[in-house]
Order: sequence, then C-alpha cells, then structure tokens
Amino acid sequence: MKGFTRREIVKLAGLGALTGAFQLSYGAVKSPLRILPSPKGKRIVIVGGGWAGVTAAKYLKKEEPSLEVILIEKRSIFMSCPISNLWLADLVQMDFLMHDFHTPAAKYGYTFLNATVTDIDRDRRRVYTDKGYIEYDYLILAPGIDYNYEAWFGNDEKMKNLCSVKFPSAFIPGAEHVALKRKIENFEEGTFVLIVPPPPHRCPPAPYERAAMIAHVFKRNEVEGKLIILDPKDGISPKGPGFMSAYEELYSGIVEYIPKAKIKEVDPVNRVIKTTAGDFKFDDANLNPPHRAGDIAKKAGLVNPKTGWCDVDPLTLQSKEDPRVFIAGDASSVKGFPKSGDMAHNHTQNMVVKAIVALIRGKDPREAVKAPTNTCYSMVNGSPKEAIVINVLYALDKKKGLPTKRKVNVENDRSPNLARATLEWARALYRDMFN
Ligand SMILES: Cc1cc2nc3c(=O)[nH]c(=O)nc-3n(C[C@H](O)[C@H](O)[C@H](O)COP(=O)(O)OP(=O)(O)OC[C@H]3O[C@@H](n4cnc5c(N)ncnc54)[C@H](O)[C@@H]3O)c2cc1C
Repeated sequence: MKGFTRREIVKLAGLGALTGAFQLSYGAVKSPLRILPSPKGKRIVIVGGGWAGVTAAKYLKKEEPSLEVILIEKRSIFMSCPISNLWLADLVQMDFLMHDFHTPAAKYGYTFLNATVTDIDRDRRRVYTDKGYIEYDYLILAPGIDYNYEAWFGNDEKMKNLCSVKFPSAFIPGAEHVALKRKIENFEEGTFVLIVPPPPHRCPPAPYERAAMIAHVFKRNEVEGKLIILDPKDGISPKGPGFMSAYEELYSGIVEYIPKAKIKEVDPVNRVIKTTAGDFKFDDANLNPPHRAGDIAKKAGLVNPKTGWCDVDPLTLQSKEDPRVFIAGDASSVKGFPKSGDMAHNHTQNMVVKAIVALIRGKDPREAVKAPTNTCYSMVNGSPKEAIVINVLYALDKKKGLPTKRKVNVENDRSPNLARATLEWARALYRDMFN
C-alpha cells in the first residue's frame, strides 16, 4: 500500500467493506476477448438463467436443434424464489429450491456459460462478459429484476447499503433469503414490519404469502409481538379474500394489515417508516423497495425510463427498441401479465421461442405465437399445510396485437389439496426446466 496515507487506507478499507456487502448486479469488467468463434449457423444468446432464460434455452433447442444457443448466467447454481416463502417456514428443505445448470445444458444441447454480462453493444450484436464477448443473431434478455432503492434514498449509497444489509428484501434469490430466515427464527418480541412494494412488482401475491408464513413461524414460536403489513394499495390483490381470512382466522392478534400505506420515508437507522397511513416504528423488518428491470437491461438502453421496465410487442415480446432483442420474464412489461415464474416460463415457451424460431424460418412471428396461461398458488397455513390459488387463461387478439384474459379462476378457500398441488406445480416446473 505504498503511496497511501494511513487515513486513506482506513477509508479505502471502509469503502471496500461497504461495496463488498452491497449486492452489485454486475462488475465493471468488459473483457475484449472473444470467447467463442463466430457461429456457422444462427446463434441465440440468452442473458440470465432464471425462470425465463432456462426455459428459453431448452425450448429453442427442442424446436430448432440447428440453433446454437448460449445461456449466460452470473450465478453458479439456481435458487427458486417460488416456494422460498415455504422454506422460510420450514415447510420444505433448501435443496427443494436448488438446481444445477449443467444437467439441462447437457441434455438439451445448449451451452451454459457461468459469467456476468457487463455490457451489450447492440450495433455490433455483442454481449460483453467478465470472461470475454460473444456475438449473436438474436438476443434474449432475461435478467429479472433489480431493487430500486433510489426511490427511497436517492443517491445515498450508504443508506442503500445499510438498508439492504440490515433489512434485506429477499425478492432476488440468494443469501438475502438466508438472512431473512434467521431474522424470523430469532424474533422473540416486538413489532416486525413487512413492506409490500408498489405495483408492478415481482410476484403480486408473494408479499402476502410471505406474511402468512412469517406469521406461522411467530405463532409456532409463541412470539410476543406482531407482524405489520404496510401495503400501498387499497387492498390485497389477487386472492384478497383468501389472504384476509387466513390472517383473521389463523393469525388473529399477530397480523395487522394496513392498506393505503404509501411510503413517504424509510429510516432504517431509527427504525421508522412514514407512510400515508401513519408512522410505524419497528424492531425488525423485511423492507421491500420498488422493483425495476434488471440493471443490464438499462445499460443496454432497453428500459423505458418512465416505467423502469422494457417495452415490448405484447404478442412476441420483441423489444420495441431493437428487433434483434426479445425480453423474457419479469423485465418485460405486457399489460395483464403478472411478473411470475409461471408466466415467465409460459410466455417464454409459447411466445418468445415461437417468435424467434418463426423469424429464423422466414415466417410471421405473430402467427406462430400461442396464448400463455398463469397459475399461482400461495401457501397461507403451515399446520396443516393449506393454500389458495389463481389460474388465468389468456387469449391472443392477433388483429389488435394484444393478449386478453379469457378465463380467471380464483380459489380463496384454503385447503390441504391446494397445498399438495402447490408442491406438485413446483416439482413439475423444476422437472421441465432442469431434468
Ligand atoms: C418470495 C417470492 C415468491 C415467489 N413465488 C412465486 C410463485 O409461487 N409462483 C410463481 O410463478 N412466481 C413466484 N415468484 C416470482 C418469480 O420468482 C419470478 O417471477 C421469476 O423468477 C421471474 O423469472 P425471470 O427469469 O424473469 O427472473 P429470474 O428468475 O430472477 O432470473 C434472472 C436471472 O438473470 C441473472 N442475471 C441478471 N443480470 C445478469 C447479468 N448481468 N449477467 C448474468 N446473469 C444475470 C440473475 O442472476 C438471475 O438468475 C416469487 C418471487 C418471490 C420473490
């Protein structure tokens, strides 16, 4: 450390500790090395190996085996957000949520590259990673979400860091979930607050399911305290009656639901949240900031700054900014499509993949796409296990170029049958993506 004063070294060490603890979504590295030779045929590069990306890789190879498909993912192992609320309450083990990328890549014949995408040059059709760059014919961007802490703290990096470390959101899979579980298990008394992010956010029912599972743990551990849910909306949606009856009948005296609580100020130091429904002091919390498309989408110039999400053709999910790019999963914005794993899997398989394969075959992509469905179970009781569900069937109005909801079925009466179906749903999707 020649050339640095002792004071500077202490300062640098402090900064390193800060940035090290804060989850950075991508580094500044932009390697000039080309990782793979130019493809002989068409090459599709997929950025992000989550629900959308893994589905895209498999179904592209199944539908058009001649394609070269490269899946780039920064994590070395997949962890599922769906069912993670059940894991918080010890209803499943962690290995239920974890999957490897190697098995499906080997089985379906796509290339898995464990690397972080640092930049995208759309003019040269290059994806830069920390290991080198790759060229593409078509790009599927499936980076999921990032947290918009700026909405609460502006550019105050110290506060963003403090909030994310002390009160992790755990809406992006990883160590935050482990930290949250520890918090819930160790909570003995007082007030625990859960903030519902403003819509549109990842998985509309997830905060309410999480609240039910936290309340289940508090009840089991005989915690002397309560869980306050601060919701910016006027009421819970979807499955509002199912969640409310669970809170009232199973967790009376534990759960307090506060609607119309739009965030005015979050103070993680003094542990106070100011909202349009009043001020709330807390002892511990799950503080969930607003969501936006994964940061790499913004870096690629594909995010609408007004919404924070990527504008797409609602039938093909082709980016409105660049016809060579398709946005799959939560980062895209289609009216009526929830940001769910089931929807990411469904629209990727039935819309994104079909559209790309049609384009490559010189056919009309809009004619090739099929209507998706969405199913979302929520566990509301841990003992006995009971769940509620919503199913949506969509239709495609190809003349207007819009998806519409054809049939919506909501089951608000919690039951053990739906709890069993929850786990069967997850097993079926994990099998489809990873086995
Ligand atoms: C608590 C909780 C419960 C949920 N429950 C359900 C449920 O019951 N049912 C349901 O259907 N949905 C549920 N969801 C929603 C579901 O998790 C998401 O909708 C789904 O993960 C979206 O898929 P995606 O592929 O868009 O994003 P993700 O699955 O998050 O995948 C994005 C991937 O991109 C990678 N990535 C990002 N940037 C880069 C980069 N620069 N370089 C390389 N890789 C990158 C990330 O590491 C990540 O693996 C839940 C979510 C949460 C938080």
